[in-house]
This record gives sequence, structure tokens and C-alpha cells, in this order.
Amino acid sequence: MRLIEKSPYCYEIAQEGNMRVPGRIYTSKALMPGMEADQSLKQVANVATLPGIVKASMAMPDIHWGYGFSIGGVAAFDWQDGVISPGGVGYDINCGVRLAATSLDMDSLQPYLDKIADALYQGIPCGVGSTGFVKLNQKEAKRVLEQGSRWAASRGLGADSDLEHTEEYGCMDAADSEAVSERALQRGLKQLGTLGSGNHFLEIGVVEEVYEPETAGVYGLAEGQVTVFLHSGSRGLGYQVCDDYLARMTKKSKDLGIELPDRQLVCSWINSKMGKEYYSAMACAANYAWANRQILMHQAEEVLLKTLSMGPRDLGMRLIYDVCHNIAKKETHVVDGVSRALCVHRKGATRAFAPGHPDVCSAYRKVGQPVLVPGDMGTCSYVLAGTEKAMEETFGSTCHGAGRVMSRTQAKKAVKGRSIHRELLDKGIRVKWTGRTTLAEEVPEAYKNVSEVVEVVHGAGISQKVARLRPVVVVKG
Ligand code: 5GP
Ligand code: MN
Ligand code: MN
Repeated sequence: MRLIEKSPYCYEIAQEGNMRVPGRIYTSKALMPGMEADQSLKQVANVATLPGIVKASMAMPDIHWGYGFSIGGVAAFDWQDGVISPGGVGYDINCGVRLAATSLDMDSLQPYLDKIADALYQGIPCGVGSTGFVKLNQKEAKRVLEQGSRWAASRGLGADSDLEHTEEYGCMDAADSEAVSERALQRGLKQLGTLGSGNHFLEIGVVEEVYEPETAGVYGLAEGQVTVFLHSGSRGLGYQVCDDYLARMTKKSKDLGIELPDRQLVCSWINSKMGKEYYSAMACAANYAWANRQILMHQAEEVLLKTLSMGPRDLGMRLIYDVCHNIAKKETHVVDGVSRALCVHRKGATRAFAPGHPDVCSAYRKVGQPVLVPGDMGTCSYVLAGTEKAMEETFGSTCHGAGRVMSRTQAKKAVKGRSIHRELLDKGIRVKWTGRTTLAEEVPEAYKNVSEVVEVVHGAGISQKVARLRPVVVVKG
């Protein structure tokens, strides 16, 4: 496969064989070696063969191998003549991140960090098989699936302003709980308000540097400020929805009438009964994930209030934004001068809508949508803003993280004999974890250098650096 350099941060995979459009990779020379080590570029080319794909099969600089579609991929399909694919969304439907600001500054919080780490670890259910404080019966669970964050707010687990600062206002209207299997629903009953395992985290951090003071001001971020950052998704419920529809679509794959280059790319016409059902079920899982993150944030606030013996006013915790990075959504984009309805798949990619876009909440419309890019537990994370160039080039999308360079197995091998938690503590980062192998699998060098990744999207202009965050307390599943 040949990569053609189009501009310093943008490369093309030339159209060949059954590809309907070219591939387009946002990356840099520094990141290239890691990227070529796995099959992810081949996956980008495979996606380009799917019917109805528009413009290009795209990959962000955090690209790495994933189920069917690479993680870090963006692909948009015509809403009438295109397909929708569970592998293009991922198993953890609406996995995403949310960032909250507080009124505290790190200098005054420093003496309490050990206490906070212990309290968050005690107070936030995490790890495989953990259960949440909110127990649902079937009827209530269906409400969660159809209302998302709104359900949490209506139960006193969040405020209306939280919804305002959530992508899609924390609810996809297409959700229909009838499309979700009994098994998936069952798996969701006890897991609402749980973090999950491994890569999922809750972090206390500090704003280390501001690049764009005006935008940071609009978001409510300033240097030295304490932040709360969390990463979680739709837990067992979303996993089961993905699994169910992969199986059902595989059975019906003849309906598509084309040969797929990889069985993992199984999909349905968006316009078919199956396609519509998947979209409705996926929206349910997305709503569950939003309610989940909303409850986790609420729980984190409770823990902080108690640990610091403070009132909500003094803590001043407020949601800056919540973004999803595993989703397919109906959106309108201008393609070759024509406005078209598309199904934009972002798998390990983040929406990055430009200033002025009607889907950016009014508080941020002037400066563009906040984009949250976690790095790893030992380095840093970024807040970016969406741009007009993202609307023109990437269907308003950018990267979602640093992205892995080592598989979990490779990482475990690489760190044998080291004390990761000690190494992090030496850097002033207190980490708490549940999984026996979590720290080894999540070691910072298992991920790309997030600053190099962000350099690419900033340099390419598909999002803009606003601020950098440094972790001081990390709770991992
Ligand atoms: P994913 O959802 O693809 O597993 O993870 C998104 C991104 O989160 C990863 O690519 C990685 O860069 C980042 N990440 C994973 N663990 C941590 C963590 O503990 N802290 C921070 N800040 N980022 C993390
Ligand atoms: Mn996830
Ligand atoms: Mn994720």
C-alpha cells in the first residue's frame, strides 16, 4: 500500500481495487512507524470499499487496529444509499469522556490529594463486574435507554446545565428500547454509574498550560485550576447490543449483495429494517452511556464535597463538556457544495464542530465545540476546539486520544519487574486500580505520545489547542 504525502500532516491511500473512495490519514513522520506496525491502514482501505461511502475513508493520528474498522477512524455514508456497521461504532457504544472544572486551585488542594485518591477509589464503582448505586428494574431501565442524561437529571443526579454541555444534549432521539434484546437490557440493570475496567478512568488534574486564553475563558478554564476528567461508556449493555447486531447482520449478510473484504465489516443498508433497528438500539446504548457518565460525575462530586468538607458553591464543580468517541450519527454536511444527510461513523474519533455550528450549545457557539483528548495516566491530556476546517475536511471530526502503540500483551511483557505505581508516584501522580494487570496494560508507553498526536490535528487545522491538563490522581478500573 502506498501513502502519498498531500500536506505535512495529511496522507492519502490511493484508490485501488474495490475501493470506492481514497483513504485519508492524518499523521506525521514521527507517528508513521507505529502506525505501519499493525493492520490499521489495510482496515482504512477496506472501509473505503463499503457502499455509499462519501469523500474518503479517514483515519486520525491516534489510529490503531480495531474490530473491522480501525480505532481512530471516521467514515460517512449516504443516509439513503449507504450502510451502517456495528464495527464502525465499536463494542463500547458511546464510550466517551467528560471534563468538569472546579473553583479550586491545585496549590490549595495539594495536602488533600492522598485522601481524595482513597475516597474516590472507595466511592466510584470500578473494575470488571462492579455494580452501581442505582439499581434499575426493567421499566426504569427502558426510560434510561430512551432519555439518557435527562433521566439522570430527573432523578437529581445532575442539573439542566449539564445537559446543555453534553454532545447531543445527552440523548439521541432515535432510541427505541424495543430494539434492545432482553439479554442486553439485563446486563444494564446493575451497571449504571460504574466506570468499567482497564482504559476507563476518573482523574483529578490541573490545567497546566493555556494556549488560547479567549476560548479557555469561554469554556471556564484557567491555569492552575483543578479539573475532574472521566472516561467510561455503555458497559455490558452496549457490548451486548454490538454483539447481538453483529450476529444478526452476519446472518443476513446476503441482503447486502456485495462481497466484504473482511467479515468484521458486516453491515446493513441504513434504510433497511435491520439498519434502522441497529441505529435505534445503538442510540439506546449511547443514552445509557450518557446517563452513566452523568451519574459518575455526580458521584465524584459527592465524594469531593464530603472529603473536603465543602459546600457545592465552594467546590464549584461544573461540566465543561461531554463527548462521545464511539458512535454513528445522522448529520448534515456539505459535500462538493451540496448539503447531504450522512451517517457519520466515529470510532475512536471525536466530533469537533466549528464556531457558529447550530449543534454547538449557545454558551460555546462563538468559539466552537470543546474536544477532549485524553493522553495516558502518566503524561497529559488536551482540550481542543472544533474548527471550520474540520467541517470542510473530516465531517467535523478529530482524534479521540493518544491511541495504543502496544497491545495489552506487549505492554505486560514490556514492564515486567517494574513498579509502575511507584514510577507514577515519583512524578506526583497517585494511581488507584482494581484489575491485577491494569497498570501494566495501561503503562504510559503503551500509548503514543499524545502531544505528537495533538500536534497533527492542530497542524492540520482540524481542531485547535486550547489547554493542557496534567493528572495528579488517577482511578483506573
Ligand atoms: P479508548 O477509549 O480508545 O480505549 O481510549 C481513549 C484514549 O484514552 C486512549 O487512546 C488513551 O490515549 C487515553 N487514556 C487511556 N487511559 C488513560 C488514563 O488513565 N488517563 C488519561 N488521561 N488518558 C488515558
Ligand atoms: Mn470504552
Ligand atoms: Mn473510550
